[in-house]
Amino acid sequence: MAFNYKNTSLIYLVISFIILLFAISKNSNSYLIITVAIIASALYLTALFFGSYLIQLNFHTKSINRGNKNTKKISITFDDGPNPNITSKLIETLEKHHIKATFFLIGEKIEQNPEIVKLIFEKGHTIGNHSFTHSNLFDLKTAKKMFYEIEKTNEIIFKILGLKIKLFRPPFGITNPMLAKALKNSKMQSIGWSLRSLDTIRTVEKTIKNIKSKLKNGDIILFHDNNPKIIEIIDELILFTQKNGIEIVGIENLLNIEPYENI
Ligand SMILES: [Zn+2]
Repeated sequence: MAFNYKNTSLIYLVISFIILLFAISKNSNSYLIITVAIIASALYLTALFFGSYLIQLNFHTKSINRGNKNTKKISITFDDGPNPNITSKLIETLEKHHIKATFFLIGEKIEQNPEIVKLIFEKGHTIGNHSFTHSNLFDLKTAKKMFYEIEKTNEIIFKILGLKIKLFRPPFGITNPMLAKALKNSKMQSIGWSLRSLDTIRTVEKTIKNIKSKLKNGDIILFHDNNPKIIEIIDELILFTQKNGIEIVGIENLLNIEPYENI
């Protein structure tokens, strides 16, 4: 039985029903019933928290979080761009080393920087959707509003590049029932990650140290191209992968998927 939102909610519902039956029966121990009810609720809330927070659990929606562990290939992904000061320079660095990456772009920022979006695509990188606003309140939105954000971003990219985007990375990596519904309605594939670099909150040295100690075959690494330290980090990462015979490939190559709809 898979650990997901539907199964966990069903089990919680059944347990709640049994507790209720005991509660209304005569001779029942009310302290025991309350204790069991509190424990069951706490476990359920814990499951909801981790299920929403850890995209790799596939609790609310099925995300692709990594590639094949048997090949010496990894993918690098950049969220929260395009950034007018950093993304173009990052593209230059990637080009110098013939490396393809994936950029999960924010709709609002695409509108402000369409030329960078063209550059990302022209240089052979993959483009994905990372919502329109990336608002801090994104995860409190209704499925309808999330759907609108996804569609609006897709429309903007289509206007610039003529591409129908299929890949979506949830803002903050948070998933919930509303997002699951919005993704289903927009027919988007959620892409998670297997290695969070924590590039925005750590120094270059600590970020690289973390990656070196955790990197495995088939990993998808999460980075941010609004991070001023990113070029230094990527330079270091490339050195490390070259030394260890690890190939950095585009996400469609690692996962054997089509990132755009045929039109
Ligand atoms: Zn983000």
